[in-house]
Amino acid sequence: SDDFLACMTLRRVADNIILPNSSGYSAAIADSWVSNVGAMPVAFYEPTTLTGVKGALKCAQQIGVGMCPRNGGHSKMGAGLCNGVVLDMFRINGTKVNTAGTIVTVYGGTVQGQLVYELATFFNTTIPKFIPTGECPQVGISGFMLGGGLTEFDGQYGIGCDNVRSYKIVLQNGTTRTVTKTAYPELYWGLCGGGGGQFGITMQMTFSLFDRRPYDNNAYFRYDWPIEVAPDIIQMYSSWDLSGGTISMKLKSDFQVIPPVIRVFGVCWFVNSSQECDDRLMSIPLFGINGSIHRFTQKGANVLEVLQFLGKTGNYGQKVVPKRISIYDSFANQLFGAASNSNSARWASVVLKYPTIPDRTFFLAIVNLCANRNVVVCNWRRLGTSVPKFGTYSSFPWRDSTNIFYIAVKNTPAVLSSLFSTFYSIQTQYTTGAYVNYASAFTPRI
Ligand SMILES: Cc1cc2nc3c(=O)[nH]c(=O)nc-3n(C[C@H](O)[C@H](O)[C@H](O)COP(=O)(O)OP(=O)(O)OC[C@H]3O[C@@H](n4cnc5c(N)ncnc54)[C@H](O)[C@@H]3O)c2cc1C
Repeated sequence: SDDFLACMTLRRVADNIILPNSSGYSAAIADSWVSNVGAMPVAFYEPTTLTGVKGALKCAQQIGVGMCPRNGGHSKMGAGLCNGVVLDMFRINGTKVNTAGTIVTVYGGTVQGQLVYELATFFNTTIPKFIPTGECPQVGISGFMLGGGLTEFDGQYGIGCDNVRSYKIVLQNGTTRTVTKTAYPELYWGLCGGGGGQFGITMQMTFSLFDRRPYDNNAYFRYDWPIEVAPDIIQMYSSWDLSGGTISMKLKSDFQVIPPVIRVFGVCWFVNSSQECDDRLMSIPLFGINGSIHRFTQKGANVLEVLQFLGKTGNYGQKVVPKRISIYDSFANQLFGAASNSNSARWASVVLKYPTIPDRTFFLAIVNLCANRNVVVCNWRRLGTSVPKFGTYSSFPWRDSTNIFYIAVKNTPAVLSSLFSTFYSIQTQYTTGAYVNYASAFTPRI
């Protein structure tokens, strides 16, 4: 740590360094979605300039330690922390729209909430524009895009990184490169999906801006059924055709509420009323399953309200009273706060492809697993058949899959291990990829 400080001082970039003996050190570790991965960084460095980033890179190399960039700190496996130097990018944040209003530059330390907020502010309501993002305001744009980025718009625009025009990155040897589909195409391909903490440090990205107005015609919904019909709902959801992205919906089994429910929630795009959304949902077989115990559909004021409904403020599908004016504030308020701590739960995900839809017994086994009282969450997300068509330029590893299924478990390593093993063994025949957010992975690798 002292050697790093000495090296940085020599290079005159020693501002904003947090060392293990500094008072802010524990807080800097804790400012991650998953922070108890056992990493004890040599230092946190919060650069404000390109010179600072390059200086830190050289100094880390000089003292023989690694470096990990951190943006929103929302990696579910704590990948924004390491034993070397954590390059905390948050001071290099913000967005800049070109004069034609067609392209936005996003700096490497910007989080989604800030991007949404700044675009909304910049364009006001007269020329609403946006780029496809996820819904959690605190997730970093760099981490999100470099990991692929699943959005509510993937049926229309592909995954998030399909929309990156260029990355400006600092390579390991300290040179700066602007990467596009035509300049360094292989690096572009690798960054789009496989880029988090790899290949270099992303200083900024540019994106084409899309007209937001068609998406302002929306309605969001939440339906709950009793857990008894959960196998049927999951089976139907797994065979649901995304219809080109006019509906986006997720699935969650919730055994924590009374009575326990299986929940479908999401948004209808391009509708003028909640009735139109309901009508569209009723044409999907899973909504024909009897016994809905909670039903809620609401016309959205605009696409930002959808993000609020699906995101943190909306608590993933709870009814929110739309705060039409303060929505921007709600995003802004969440900027740069300590990331919500989820250390008590461990997440495991599998990415699935069903060549033919399995029978009900298969889905019943999954429901029984989710009913275990140690399982906090069972969530499903459709990747959808319309996404692969955008796939030429991306290393997103699960492009050809159709579902992502993840569980969070809260217990001792032994219980985790046993539950995750069951989780994998049930689905292994359909699995195309997996990850566990535990640094010392004790679960079987697939
Ligand atoms: C509550 C929550 C909601 C989520 N919702 C979604 C969702 O809707 N859709 C979705 O696709 N994903 C979602 N995710 C997953 C999230 O997108 C990924 O975990 C993403 O990688 C987090 O990015 P980050 O910048 O916040 O995290 P970080 O931990 O800061 O970074 C993640 C990875 O990217 C690297 N990295 C960060 N910044 C840079 C940089 N400037 N240059 C190079 N590498 C960098 C880090 O080293 C690390 O390896 C969600 C996660 C959480 C916790």
